[in-house]
Amino acid sequence: MVQTSIQNYINGVLIPPISGKYLPNVNPAEGKIYSQLPDSDAEDVKKAVIAAQEAFPSWSSLPVEERSKYLLQLADLIDANLEGLANAESIDSGKPLNLARTVDIPRASANFRFYATAALHFSSEAHLTGNQALNYTSRKPLGVAACISPWNLPLYLFSWKIAPALAAGNCVVAKPSELTPMTAYLLSKLCIEAGLPKGVLNIVHGLGPKVGQAMVEHKDVPAISFTGGTLTGQKIASTAAPMFKKLSLELGGKNPNIVFADCDFKEAVQNSVRAAFTNQGEICLCGSRIFIEQSLYENFKEEFIEQVKQLKLGDPIKEDTKIGALVSQNHKEKVLSYIELAKDEGGKLLTGGKTAQVTGRCEEGFFVEPTVFEGLPFDCRTNQEEIFGPVVTLTPFNSEEEVIAWANSTKYGLSATVWTQNLKRAHRVADRIESGIVWVNCWLLRDLRTPFGGVKQSGVGREGGMEALQFFTEPKNVCIKT
Ligand code: NAD
Repeated sequence: MVQTSIQNYINGVLIPPISGKYLPNVNPAEGKIYSQLPDSDAEDVKKAVIAAQEAFPSWSSLPVEERSKYLLQLADLIDANLEGLANAESIDSGKPLNLARTVDIPRASANFRFYATAALHFSSEAHLTGNQALNYTSRKPLGVAACISPWNLPLYLFSWKIAPALAAGNCVVAKPSELTPMTAYLLSKLCIEAGLPKGVLNIVHGLGPKVGQAMVEHKDVPAISFTGGTLTGQKIASTAAPMFKKLSLELGGKNPNIVFADCDFKEAVQNSVRAAFTNQGEICLCGSRIFIEQSLYENFKEEFIEQVKQLKLGDPIKEDTKIGALVSQNHKEKVLSYIELAKDEGGKLLTGGKTAQVTGRCEEGFFVEPTVFEGLPFDCRTNQEEIFGPVVTLTPFNSEEEVIAWANSTKYGLSATVWTQNLKRAHRVADRIESGIVWVNCWLLRDLRTPFGGVKQSGVGREGGMEALQFFTEPKNVCIKT
């Protein structure tokens, strides 16, 4: 039974889509429709852009301290509604409730808090040109920014874009993934509760090729911040580039996790399991290609498989569940097709490999067992293409040179992890790996002040820290003859 009709948030109010059409929203753990979301189109986007344009003059000229107060209030409201938001995120995405409660939602409020305060410390530059001139650089917000986010960390990634855009003085038209719209809808209610001026943030729900495309094409939207798949990123770039829009693209990954024989064995195994299967492997930063130095290979494999078998798969609502449902039936089928591909390519299945049956309310849910293969060459499709699910490979390597070449062999370059206690090697390998971030003896440890993003086909531009505030502003240099 349909219980909730999600609404668009445009010009400060919750409204239905102009067409009156809705899409089903499925709870992936049960495989059932549990709410509906607006099937918005270009008309809704137009309306949202007009609202944002009208709000821009007063929002951008508010003292930064005032904008900061609104964002801090949103952060507080997210914290105050932690349980409801975590529940919504888990129901929408299939992820364990515990993960949403301890990671996704707290990080969403941390994003708002970080940019609310970072904007207060944003400093501009001045340069003396000998005794001839004084140059100073001011940075102005861009106007209406489009923020488009994926389904895997719904509120976290949504807020990661919206918060810096708003803090820098822009107004925003945002679109969450059509697969996980609920937390963005709840956020729009919190914006109303916080008294955010109308039109400053507008949230339009619906399909990517309809709503997302209309946002990217809109002539009055000069900047697009996008996180999602590499193919979608290509499409967005091909639309936006001829219009000379500012673009930040955070795209796919196929990240190497490199284990040297001199690692702290216990730490390396435990965290390699975490890096492989947290959020069912549906994190762009998951380490899905695990390379292990030959002399450690058999020991590592044995302990790794043992720990993977202990991961509790099941109802996301249960406290001890570590592996929940995949986000959709389509995604489940995609993951299963990669498992078949890995077998066809000669991979030896070490554990998992099929749909998982969960009893009770979740018997129709989209569950796949955590799956591990070995015996696959580094350059086969299984080891080159992004699966974005609970499927990883183990591969032994013989030398540092060899593993660096394998690590760098994909078209992606988002993140990498290196396990070694040799400090010199850690620096050497980190330096040669082609990726935006390298974790040494850790994984997913984030300091919001550091730049975040990928190289090669994992994206262009950087989010995080002051980089995001720079992205959402345009520098202007004034040169005064002295
Ligand atoms: P996706 O590209 O299918 O969709 C992402 C968003 O783009 C959704 O809101 C979607 O509706 C919208 N969209 C789709 N077509 C569009 C178009 N033509 N114009 C504008 N918007 C459009 O990605 P997904 O399946 O939601 O997410 C999974 C992907 O995201 C994976 O590849 C993953 O690696 C990547 N990801 C990257 C990062 C990162 O920081 N680099 C973080 C999380 C996820």
